[in-house]
Amino acid sequence: MNNPLLDTTGLPAFSRIRPQHVEPATRAVLEECRAQVETILAAAEPPRWDNLVMPLEALDHRLARAWAPVGHLNAVQNTEALREAYNACLPLLSDYSSEMGQHEGLFRAFERVLAEEGDRLGAGQRKILADALRDFHLSGVALPPGPRERFRAIMLELSTLGARFEENLLDATQAWRLEVRDESRLAGLPEAARERARQAARNRGLDGWALTLDFPCYHAVMCHAVDRELRREFYAAWVTRASELGPTAGRFDNGAVMEAILRLRHEAAAILGFESYAQLSLETKMASSVEEVAGFLEDLARRSRTAAKAELEAVQQFAGQPLEAWDIAFWSERLREHAYEVSDEELRPYFPADRAMAGLFDTAAQLFGIRIVPGGPVDTWHPEVGFYRIEDAEGGLLGQLYTDLYAREQKRGGAWMDECVGRAKLGGQTALPVAFLVCNFMPPVGARPGLLSHDDVVTLFHEFGHCLHHLLTRVDWPSAAGINGVAWDAVELPSQFLENFAWHPTVIERLSGHHLTGEPLPRVLLERLIASRNFQSAMQMLRQVEFALFDIRLYARGATDAAGVVAELDAVRREVAVVPYPGFNRFAHGFSHIFGGGYAAGYYSYKWAEVLSADAFSLFEENGVMDPVAGRRFRACILEVGGSVDALDAFIAFRGRPPEPGALLRLAGISDAAAAT
Ligand SMILES: [Zn+2]
Repeated sequence: MNNPLLDTTGLPAFSRIRPQHVEPATRAVLEECRAQVETILAAAEPPRWDNLVMPLEALDHRLARAWAPVGHLNAVQNTEALREAYNACLPLLSDYSSEMGQHEGLFRAFERVLAEEGDRLGAGQRKILADALRDFHLSGVALPPGPRERFRAIMLELSTLGARFEENLLDATQAWRLEVRDESRLAGLPEAARERARQAARNRGLDGWALTLDFPCYHAVMCHAVDRELRREFYAAWVTRASELGPTAGRFDNGAVMEAILRLRHEAAAILGFESYAQLSLETKMASSVEEVAGFLEDLARRSRTAAKAELEAVQQFAGQPLEAWDIAFWSERLREHAYEVSDEELRPYFPADRAMAGLFDTAAQLFGIRIVPGGPVDTWHPEVGFYRIEDAEGGLLGQLYTDLYAREQKRGGAWMDECVGRAKLGGQTALPVAFLVCNFMPPVGARPGLLSHDDVVTLFHEFGHCLHHLLTRVDWPSAAGINGVAWDAVELPSQFLENFAWHPTVIERLSGHHLTGEPLPRVLLERLIASRNFQSAMQMLRQVEFALFDIRLYARGATDAAGVVAELDAVRREVAVVPYPGFNRFAHGFSHIFGGGYAAGYYSYKWAEVLSADAFSLFEENGVMDPVAGRRFRACILEVGGSVDALDAFIAFRGRPPEPGALLRLAGISDAAAAT
């Protein structure tokens, strides 16, 4: 077989995948799927779970498996040629998905399975059928021919717009850099950040230092650069990326892309009979209405505002001057150092990436009854990639995991988990799940290993929580295995739940070991770190609420132009935010979650699921944090069931009662007394 993408029997042969393999493989798999769907449908008489649903699940599994390495490489190795090949396939996939979603024969057959066989099937199977019928409707299966065609055309156009949004952002991020000749401008910057900037300059044949907009560099400048003008320049470059303003003004402008996405999403929602795209988005979520989501967020804002104002006031006082947007991170970091006698940079040497990973794996092993061991050697896309086997403590392989931890060029920013292979038991054969864990941490420089901040460690726990959701699933039907079929606003439950452990003393001890001496984090530093956990937690709460409220309101109103998007965000900020924002801030133009990713009218999920995750964690607080009994229970009730159980039912099965919202504010250290005003 010449095309490595068509061989889906084992792990992807990443090093052999070339851009020219992408389109032929995608076309071939889609063609095969189309032919098989008709064969399956014709033979399924009467249609039943075994002769219709299972074979279709197998087809979806095959398609997902062939496409997963392409989507992944496009995110972590975004070369011009791969980007082109990837984009050429998006309309093909959209067409196929619309065709299946609007396939009346399939729709009727699914209806019959549920009606005629539903009583004999398990609850998980019935949920899969009900979700499938809902999705047929949301794909426009019941529409008359004209609107149905239009709906398909909209989906086709939308399929490439999200990718364009991400590309503009990546290109804008990579297009700007600041060359520094005068070392005094770097005052305050940590050694590792300087060395990296030096290397970046050398790689480009330059003298001095090249400061870039990749996250580790940007973050170091904003938190540590003493030179206020340098911070202002960086801030301005960062918050105007992919917009009509700033140093790359108009070159990668996402304005028109946002306008098109909003217009098309609203039109699609209207065709299906929804008042807004937000309403359509909520059809597949736990929350039932825009009012419920907005009310939930507004309440959080109200309860956090007084505390947030006091937090900002404390920074202003400490700085002894009025603060601009580019001063806040810098002075906050100084205040944290002063108040808690602890700094990120002092902690970093204690968290070499290997050590942190090993501690994370130990923790997960003890809690959930698993073992995580190095796997491989396997074929990968980059020498820094790690590979692990996840085994049950009782024995037996459960899944496998790729890790790609460090920032580099041509790699999308942020941190995420993605599926490489989903769990499936089809035709007597079980495919075990494989996950990608991707971050953008400060890479190793020279002989020094990658050193993580404690924030990075928390991010690692977060993404690994998603990985466990994917890897520990026991569901054999791909459409409900792992995070598939899980209501989007519950997806962040395992990830945010696991974050809490990164703050526990015994876990931190396990995670830490000085990169030169191996010495664990000294007790006094550990205590200071823990004491600083809720530093500015109300400001952080408001920041998340601001993004979430902007998202839900934007998608609840009608289509609007780029200026309207900016105005909407400004209005939310006036209502919610306590920190200053300059008029040139164009955050929305880089808000990938809601334009490029899957969080449109769903960004509130972070806060929504945090109610669940904080309350789930409170059981561990009651029982002693490393309680393996509660851990096994979490594994069985939440992680293993994936989308085969309704999210609220799964939570109740775990906790023995519905979620109680108080835990969220308590964990964030925001007292409810502050809500009085
Ligand atoms: Zn997440």
